[in-house]
Amino acid sequence: MRLNPAGWLIFLLLSSGCAQNKAPEAAAVAEAKPIAEPAKAAAPQAPAPTVNPNRAMQYVREIVAIGRRAPGSPGHKKEESYIKNHLNGDTVEQDAFTAKTPAGEFQLNNIIAKYPGTKDCILVVGSHYDTNYPLKNYVGANDGGSTSGLLLELANHLRGKKHEGCSVWLVWFDGEEAFDKWSPTDSLYGSRHIAEKWKSDGTAKRIKALILLDMIGDADLNIDRDGNSDPALLKTVYDAATQLGYQSHFFARDLAIEDDHLPFRNFGVPVVDLIDFDYGYNNAFHHTSEDTLDKLSPKSLQIVGDVVLATLQRLDAQ
Ligand code: ZN
Repeated sequence: MRLNPAGWLIFLLLSSGCAQNKAPEAAAVAEAKPIAEPAKAAAPQAPAPTVNPNRAMQYVREIVAIGRRAPGSPGHKKEESYIKNHLNGDTVEQDAFTAKTPAGEFQLNNIIAKYPGTKDCILVVGSHYDTNYPLKNYVGANDGGSTSGLLLELANHLRGKKHEGCSVWLVWFDGEEAFDKWSPTDSLYGSRHIAEKWKSDGTAKRIKALILLDMIGDADLNIDRDGNSDPALLKTVYDAATQLGYQSHFFARDLAIEDDHLPFRNFGVPVVDLIDFDYGYNNAFHHTSEDTLDKLSPKSLQIVGDVVLATLQRLDAQ
């Protein structure tokens, strides 16, 4: 993923300067945005289910232990098998295709697990599972690892019950990362492929919301308010976070993010990207060999996992 070019201005403004004035700046942004005001929404009828943070973290640990997981690597194959093995017995579809990239042709594969609901609508929760291709000494604990593991934990909560509401589909997108330099044609390979497919077969029209997760394992969890996300969905997420007492981790800063949600947004699907773009001081851990397990926290996985489950519940009630 990357920031929209204009987003860098805000990011640099907020990232520059000493630590003391960073917080007031972020607070000022929060005050200016209606979305960050305390939510008055009533709690839904049933308490939202909660994820198991240690189990989620164990999935992340095992995925990261595979090592580099870029397309074409042995680790990528291993991770595909790991994900599919943990979805044993679920309805799993694969969307395999050949991507033409600046580094050559690659076999990519989106993995979709479908959990049926009682209504003819779909809620998608997705994340990319590839790690950055050009980086060699790189395990992508947060960027790729954290959300791939969290999605497996979410599957544990969706499995084996008829969901009262829309069907929930979990998607592990492949090829999010650029092979050379981020551009509209060198990025988001998997999401662009599946969005096209879902547009042509009519699936896109049935998707009530797509929630994208990226880089949310950071122990210092500050999820940005993405300007490319649907405002109503941002509000639903914020209300869910407030219901659980986690609102301080959400939306203090505005950024516009280019990520796997964009191909769906372009086809009219309401989308929201939950991403903590600030990973380490001045984003020092992002796309470096420093993106390792010790920077992550099970608590962050729990916060995001629980907010996602509560958001799904709210979307079903809308
Ligand atoms: Zn990345």
